[in-house]
Amino acid sequence: ALVLGIESSCDETAVALVDSQRRIVAQRIASQDAEHAPFGGVVPEIAARAHAERLAPMIAGVLEDAGIALDDCDAIAATAGPGLIGGVMVGLVSAKALAMASDTPLIAINHLEGHALSPRLADASIAFSYALLLVSGGHCQILRVDGVGQYRRLATTIDDALGEAFDKTAKILGLGFPGGPAVERTAKDGDAKAVPLPRPMVGSGEPHFSFAGLKSAVLRAYESGKYETADIAASFQQAAVDCVTDRLRIALAGMDDVDTLVVAGGVAANATVRAALEQLAAAHGMRFAAPPPKLCTDNAAMIAWAGIERLGQDDPLDISARPRWPLDPQAAPVRGAGV
Ligand code: ATP
Ligand code: MG
Ligand code: FE
Repeated sequence: ALVLGIESSCDETAVALVDSQRRIVAQRIASQDAEHAPFGGVVPEIAARAHAERLAPMIAGVLEDAGIALDDCDAIAATAGPGLIGGVMVGLVSAKALAMASDTPLIAINHLEGHALSPRLADASIAFSYALLLVSGGHCQILRVDGVGQYRRLATTIDDALGEAFDKTAKILGLGFPGGPAVERTAKDGDAKAVPLPRPMVGSGEPHFSFAGLKSAVLRAYESGKYETADIAASFQQAAVDCVTDRLRIALAGMDDVDTLVVAGGVAANATVRAALEQLAAAHGMRFAAPPPKLCTDNAAMIAWAGIERLGQDDPLDISARPRWPLDPQAAPVRGAGV
């Protein structure tokens, strides 16, 4: 089977064709970094307009690259949320039009499910159930993944997401946008022990996260003028990693029957984060899996893959785009935290 995937929930416009043999038959991705960089973050209106301009030619381009017609697709999968609503609407409405025109099933995908299942696209041997650390620009969660659509959230952040903490740190340090890769690059030349920074929530019996205090401490360290930028970046990255591994230790204690630890989302592209998680998994006698970095940050291959996993689903043409869409609808809010 072959699925066309469309992703437009944030600032990457992306289209991909993926088959059930896990082949990425064709894909195109257009980043809007240049458009948003002057503002130091993603501007929703600019993002929506850029998606609207780029998406249709990119769809035509991907079909052309693959040498296939729309009718050859077994489904059209598009991100239907969560995300910036203008962009999500551009992608979802385009998918509806294609599905209608080609009489092909529409599959509305939760962007977070795209991230959550991406390790299975990269590696056929990743079977349910697995423990998932989902670390992205908008989310920081630990989930138990028991199957497609079966997600139990064990932890979330009470304030900032981990990717957001990287982005804010980059902004404070003047490293530009997007922040995560810039912090990682800068940290390579720094001493991770040079700057004393807090590890919020470490030691707490609940596995939740908090990064607002770490970001404030980064700001104070920067403003003190006592430290090199590279040392602050490296110390921040290490503090973040220490928080993540401590929180995971608590969460994994409640998942004795799960033998695989998986990381996904944009921050999973970070080599220091990956290395620390690999060690943690080994210490727990667990297998560790992380998709290749290009499948960690936003892309349409993961959306097409989620469509493959959901083949047989045929969503109605009036299905709504959703700015919020928790993977685990049963999860209770944590001190006013988001989904
Ligand atoms: P969400 O998936 O929660 O809706 P999003 O789609 O904006 O949010 P992703 O594209 O999955 O997020 O991830 C982007 C985030 O990942 C950004 O915060 C970015 O700084 C971070 N990131 C990307 N690469 C790295 C890296 N190498 N190191 C650390 N963080 C990174
Ligand atoms: Mg982006
Ligand atoms: Fe994402």
